[in-house]
Amino acid sequence: MSADMKGLVAAVTGGASGIGAAIARELQGRGCTVFVLDLNPESVPGGQTGLVCDVSDDDSVQAAVAEIASTAGQLDIVVNNAGIGAVGTVADNSDDEWHRVWDVNVIGIARMSRATLPLLRASHAAAIVNVSSIAATAGLPQRALYSATKGGVLSLTRAMAADLVRDGIRVNCVNPGTVDTPWVGRLLDQSSDSAAERAALCARQPHGRLVTADEVAAAVGYLASPTSGSTTGTSIAVDGGMQGLRLRPE
Ligand code: NAD
Repeated sequence: MSADMKGLVAAVTGGASGIGAAIARELQGRGCTVFVLDLNPESVPGGQTGLVCDVSDDDSVQAAVAEIASTAGQLDIVVNNAGIGAVGTVADNSDDEWHRVWDVNVIGIARMSRATLPLLRASHAAAIVNVSSIAATAGLPQRALYSATKGGVLSLTRAMAADLVRDGIRVNCVNPGTVDTPWVGRLLDQSSDSAAERAALCARQPHGRLVTADEVAAAVGYLASPTSGSTTGTSIAVDGGMQGLRLRPE
């Protein structure tokens, strides 16, 4: 991997597991100094700095960003990856659950972005990458609340890109399909037939398998890197063709 991002400093929320951990590795491999902001950053590997941070708590976000400012003195890349799931139709989740998931998945991005804007405005290579989902662009069963938040992330990405383009800050997002992470592992564990459930998830994606966290991380790395200096306000689907393709039956 080339060190095309040497000298840049990155913050990855939810970077201690799954997609976030792969993103942190990708950015580190490309030369970034990486801070992982997570509820449980203990597992963060050597060479990365883990900071305890809850994106649903403004004081916690501000404290973590202040720590980055005082130790690194700059911040160039923000990856808003922290997110939580919810299962059910529109009738199934309580108001409290709607508020809780919205608070992490959408308002968490607003908190992190507004706290880091002063540092990003001072950067010559500023980029924000948000992690949305196939749930933003396709109607999936039993995912009403989660899909609403991820649709919010997609729209927020475009609005932020418009507001920040003249400040030299690019804002983009990725829309992963079903990714093989601990999150999906937990969902499969809850199923009465996890092998059949896994097979159904694989079959739903035209390339016939789950997406890997490294494949999502590579797309995030591209969007975060100065290589994509003319790319803003867009999304990259990393979903094995699930959104865009219509295959004939075999
Ligand atoms: P994961 O559960 O493996 O990891 C999520 C990480 O976020 C954990 O380390 C957790 O501690 C952290 N986190 C949770 N709440 C937090 C909070 N309030 N503040 C800070 N950190 C917090 O999940 P994953 O599968 O790697 O998912 C990461 C992101 O990718 C999420 O935004 C998710 O919606 C999105 N996504 C996942 C999939 C998938 O199939 N796994 C598909 C599309 C999008």
